[in-house]
Amino acid sequence: MPKAYLGLGGNIGKVKDNIEEALRLLQSHGNLQVLNISSFYETAPVGYADQDWFLNIAAEIQTELSPDALLTLCNEVEQQLKRERLIRWGPRTIDIDILLYEEYESNTDRLTIPHPRIAERAFVVIPLLEIAPDLMVKGQRIQDIADKLNHQEIRKRDND
Ligand code: ATP
Ligand code: CA
Ligand code: CA
Repeated sequence: MPKAYLGLGGNIGKVKDNIEEALRLLQSHGNLQVLNISSFYETAPVGYADQDWFLNIAAEIQTELSPDALLTLCNEVEQQLKRERLIRWGPRTIDIDILLYEEYESNTDRLTIPHPRIAERAFVVIPLLEIAPDLMVKGQRIQDIADKLNHQEIRKRDND
């Protein structure tokens, strides 16, 4: 069954609860299992600075859904968790991005895979590195990508 990696994050409300609820809702769809999740990471906002820090994780999933159907499901779960799109890269209860889907490549506006901004974002690369240390992203080792990002603020959240 195809494997994919998702990036989940948010900075409004009880974000850890929202992320866990999002994973539950994704799985309640019979065609998707979460195989592994990273630690929770507290990360400085990127793109639009005047907002709270984010909580981010990466998740490895397996699914029979096509990439397109997976995106639709991710959007539905965002809606269920009251995601509103007001400011680009602004505050949100939950964001679910498809980072990678097997070797699949897509370049439409609706769906770009691999996600086009993986390599510039510590909040994506560091959680991915934790759960998939041998991963290749567009021909580059995830470890090498991470090594170039060490200036961005990110810290592993204590377990609670
Ligand atoms: P970014 O894409 O830079 O992380 P964002 O997550 O804040 O920004 P959104 O408003 O959540 O952006 O999504 C904008 C659009 O991106 C969505 O409507 C979706 O169709 C499209 N999109 C394209 N590729 C992907 C992908 N790999 N995963 C999720 N959404 C995607
Ligand atoms: Ca995003
Ligand atoms: Ca998104």
